[in-house]
Amino acid sequence: MIIQPKTRGFICTTAHPAGCAKQVESQIEYVKAQKKIDGPANVLVIGASTGYGLASRITAAFGAGANTIGVFFDKAAEGQRTASAGWYNSAALEQKAAETGLKSHSIVGDAFSDAIKEKTIELIKAEYGTIDLVVYSVASPRRTHPVTGETFSSVIKPVETAYSNKTLNFHTGEVSLTTIEPATEEEVRQTIAVMGGEDWRMWMDQLLEAGVLADGATTVAYSYIGPEITHPIYREGTIGKAKNDLEQTANKLNDLLASKNGRAFVSVNKALVTQSSSAIPVVPLYISALYKVMKEKGLHENCIQQMYRLFSEHLYGNNPATAESSSLIRVDDWEMREDVQTEVMKRWDELQSDNVLDLADLEGYRQDFFQLFGFHTDGVDFDANIDPSVDIPNLV
Ligand code: NAD
Repeated sequence: MIIQPKTRGFICTTAHPAGCAKQVESQIEYVKAQKKIDGPANVLVIGASTGYGLASRITAAFGAGANTIGVFFDKAAEGQRTASAGWYNSAALEQKAAETGLKSHSIVGDAFSDAIKEKTIELIKAEYGTIDLVVYSVASPRRTHPVTGETFSSVIKPVETAYSNKTLNFHTGEVSLTTIEPATEEEVRQTIAVMGGEDWRMWMDQLLEAGVLADGATTVAYSYIGPEITHPIYREGTIGKAKNDLEQTANKLNDLLASKNGRAFVSVNKALVTQSSSAIPVVPLYISALYKVMKEKGLHENCIQQMYRLFSEHLYGNNPATAESSSLIRVDDWEMREDVQTEVMKRWDELQSDNVLDLADLEGYRQDFFQLFGFHTDGVDFDANIDPSVDIPNLV
């Protein structure tokens, strides 16, 4: 079939297998062109198929030569329905890992469940022995608790007071004012249950108990802070409460891993277009302005550049800021640079529908959005008839 993008708001319901493969290949090429990382041998990435998790897995495998297990929640193609982008990305990654002689397995299913944790542990025991690095990069709208069976939904809302600011419809370029009513206490509780640290902690408890963590094992999860204008909807909102919980979990995991000489970190990453961030009000306009300013200053990075920097400079480098007591790593340092933020804020005040193409990188935002699903990718014939059904090699 000929596969075209079909969008509904910030969702694209189709994905292109050849385009996704090309996107993965270009991330692999990027890390292969950098200095090799003297890093981990066996890596588990939970939430490994798109965004920061995919870039982490690529950096581990092709930047450090690690064997990798990827856990993710994606759908295979069915009839005329394409697979999800993460499925195609993982198929391409497995293919390349096999060609390179790297051991690699993929597990598709709900990372929040005990069944998937047990399946992963069995795989580690059978094929890997122990794991040196656990990356936790799950972003999900829902979670069913493995013990109580309660299903929680996360919301992205301010807390206590309503929040109004500019937002962007990136399809039309319309900049408008949006007001978001505050979350209830119950919504805050549920968002923390989905996006906080409990599941990360459960993974680490179970991996430790099963004896599959190597001595000196490291674990890292991802967070975001961002500028003051987005604080009410992000850092001080429901999702920020969950991120506080995640960051506190890192401290608890540091204690838990002490017996193994292990370390736990939260890396604060840059704002980037991913399937998760495009769902947040206000943030896409901020990201568009940020892209423009960072590109002008030669500082722009995508997920793969961020993750290469995280691995090479922080997790497996000599950055003194992260080597000892602090469990917080900042790879959002270039985004948060004073000159970058001053320029973004100056533009923010002026931004409206008729100048968004000049003041912000709307085209770059759109391109990145479509590329998440394999579209708008150079070197791919989008008019070609293509089979949407693709197998993931080494799917367990
Ligand atoms: P993403 O949507 O691209 O990736 C989410 C991953 O989680 C996918 O691989 C998906 O398959 C997986 N997943 C979702 N539900 C799952 C489940 N139940 N079981 C197994 N896997 C599941 O998101 P992202 O933007 O890369 O976010 C990853 C992390 O990075 C999040 O913690 C996010 O808050 C953080 N972060 C994102 C940004 C940003 O701007 N995008 C910035 C800083 C930090």
